[in-house]
Amino acid sequence: MKLSSIIAGLSAAVVAFQGVAYAARGQASLLRPPGAQSEQDFLSRCIKCGKCIEACPYLALSPARDDAGFAVGTPVIDARAQACRLCEDFPCVSACPTGALRDISARSEVRMGVAVIDEDVCIAFQGMRCEVCYRTCPLIDQAIHIDYRLREGDAIHSVFAPVIDEDACVGCGLCVERCVVDDPVVAIRIAPAAERAEQASG
Ligand code: SF4
Ligand code: SF4
Ligand code: SF4
Repeated sequence: MKLSSIIAGLSAAVVAFQGVAYAARGQASLLRPPGAQSEQDFLSRCIKCGKCIEACPYLALSPARDDAGFAVGTPVIDARAQACRLCEDFPCVSACPTGALRDISARSEVRMGVAVIDEDVCIAFQGMRCEVCYRTCPLIDQAIHIDYRLREGDAIHSVFAPVIDEDACVGCGLCVERCVVDDPVVAIRIAPAAERAEQASG
């Protein structure tokens, strides 16, 4: 075996090991592009080449900053700044040379995370009509619907409450980008897939 092959193999092993160690430390709750599998799998394959970032026509991807530890330089999405548009041909996935992003042929297969509404902050739960997140969702009436009901203890006024379907929401973040409330916090956020996996494992 050539020395260059051995070095390449060792480098890949070190990257994979560091990725596993990073994921195992539970520091991963970054919003990843479509096609990322588990955080451990993603970190073991991503070589931080930036090809997915370059391929995104909406500039939704950027390299993780210095405070991301080992994950610095890996592609992340700041949904409030610029959400994923769920391109039909997924150029980010096609551009990935290592398979860190893979196995996506339809929007419904994306599993970036799940939207979570803060009912104390969302104005719809306070009795105002908004529906911005609902109208902006590319999976309207699948990932999100409006629950029309009378306000508790009020026979006249209605609540038009947005409700997320956790099985259908893909975590694109468009609802977060467009939410009209950001004080004291944005009324809707994405719980990234890694965060949900961490919670599920206890
Ligand atoms: S699906 Fe499109 S918008 Fe979303 S990250 Fe990939 S290239 Fe960017
Ligand atoms: S993240 Fe928001 S916009 Fe995207 S699918 Fe889920 S509810 Fe719809
Ligand atoms: S856009 Fe924001 S404030 Fe409006 S209904 Fe959706 S979560 Fe609530």
